[in-house]
Amino acid sequence: MSSIDQIMEFNQQFVKSKQYEKYRTTRYPNKKLVILTCMDTRLTEMLPRALNLSNGDAKIIKNAGAVISHPFGSIMRSIIVSLYQLQAEEVAVIGHYDCGMTGLRANMIMDKAKENGLDLSQIEAAAYAGIDIDKWLEGFDDVEDNVRHSVEIIKRHPLLPKNTLVHGLVISPETGELTMIEKDEPYQ
Ligand SMILES: [Zn+2]
Repeated sequence: MSSIDQIMEFNQQFVKSKQYEKYRTTRYPNKKLVILTCMDTRLTEMLPRALNLSNGDAKIIKNAGAVISHPFGSIMRSIIVSLYQLQAEEVAVIGHYDCGMTGLRANMIMDKAKENGLDLSQIEAAAYAGIDIDKWLEGFDDVEDNVRHSVEIIKRHPLLPKNTLVHGLVISPETGELTMIEKDEPYQ
């Protein structure tokens, strides 16, 4: 039985026994907060618990490493949509220690793809066409620097609403402890 089969089986019971009732809320975040964090499995439940977030409290955007690779990519779009359309007013970038994106280099993935027997000629063609595969698959060297970098991209974005607070933090995946890297203060 694959995971998805187990999920489908559980899901029928979940709906039938109306377990959804305690999660009912709206699409607008109660705490007016949008969080960009990492997809790390240790944070799935830990992060909301450690921040006292319940269903409906915050928009949570996740990817590998809480990285914003492009100021006009999908992560930044999600942040902008949250701020304009979904009543969020404050942004927190939350990286974490021991992140799988630390030290990641493109060749690590390319080597595995080769071992997997994939034909890499199309990737080579993409590289030839100007797509920077190395940059696309590259992680970062220091999680705190990466958080600062993401905060900087958000703060400099030409569509960021005035007076939006943008903070940078790092969470421990072991204890849930938050370390403040950059705290934004309301503009006086
Ligand atoms: Zn991570």
